[in-house]
Amino acid sequence: MTWNGGRGGRTLAVGAAAVVVLGLAACGSGSSGSGSAAAGGKLSVVAATNVWGDIAATVGGDAVEVTSVISSTSQDPHSFTSDTRTQLAVSKADLVIENGGGYDDFMDQLLKTANSSAPVINAVEVSGRQAPSGGELNEHVWYDFPAVQKVADTIAADLGQALPARAADFTANARAFDAQVDTLIKAEATAKAAHAGEGTAITEPVPLYLLDAMGLVNRTPAAFSEAVEESTDIPVAVLDQTLKIFSGGQVKVFVYNEQTSSPETEKVLAQAKQDGVPTVGVTETLPAGKDYLAWMKANVEAVTSALG
Ligand SMILES: [Zn+2]
Repeated sequence: MTWNGGRGGRTLAVGAAAVVVLGLAACGSGSSGSGSAAAGGKLSVVAATNVWGDIAATVGGDAVEVTSVISSTSQDPHSFTSDTRTQLAVSKADLVIENGGGYDDFMDQLLKTANSSAPVINAVEVSGRQAPSGGELNEHVWYDFPAVQKVADTIAADLGQALPARAADFTANARAFDAQVDTLIKAEATAKAAHAGEGTAITEPVPLYLLDAMGLVNRTPAAFSEAVEESTDIPVAVLDQTLKIFSGGQVKVFVYNEQTSSPETEKVLAQAKQDGVPTVGVTETLPAGKDYLAWMKANVEAVTSALG
């Protein structure tokens, strides 16, 4: 839970949102779910991660108070457990944003316990993404730019329901945000025009929607990236197979999750470097000091320049 009120340069929102240090302001503010905004207060939004929290702040502007449950790249979202302060925030929320897809099941538990009547946005459901036949759903939909636009529009709609007087502002903010995401989508298409069909490799499915939109083909043994994501043991044969994919030019860029690593992922990263394959580190949650757009712009540029 972070305070980053000092973040300037946000041009999109109509008036800057307040991002709250959980437990302090929330208790003090006395916001009690519905109706707090009508009383001149701000709408309180609780987001499972600071990714959706940042987007909610962009769309809501000065009409919202956003609490992000997971907000540090030193936390592993896949093993997060919540606490009473988070429970309190959820029980007072006017809007809840969860990622879904098994990424943040703790949110469902919090909502059940809170017996909350607040609207809940499930990003994976809004994205429309499903598991490929015989495969696993990739729940990291914040790397899927069209999906992120859909979530931003849904946030605007739900906030507009809760505070009709500001509905036009929310819609305008979401439109402005979507227009900037369009520039990222265009950058992906430009990369695809130049690099479609080239190989890539990953430690976990985190960046896959972005790499796919750039036309890159994932050459990572599925057994490796699934085991890394589930934190299960990686069979020796699978690790050996993975270490061999970097020689011979079939992988043009290796994109690894900086937020969680293990001796095996470190070994694979070292092998990629040894074989002269460009590497790009990505995270699951928003790095400090960056908003969503700046973060994803940097990710797209890093992969594009690695492809050469
Ligand atoms: Zn993940």
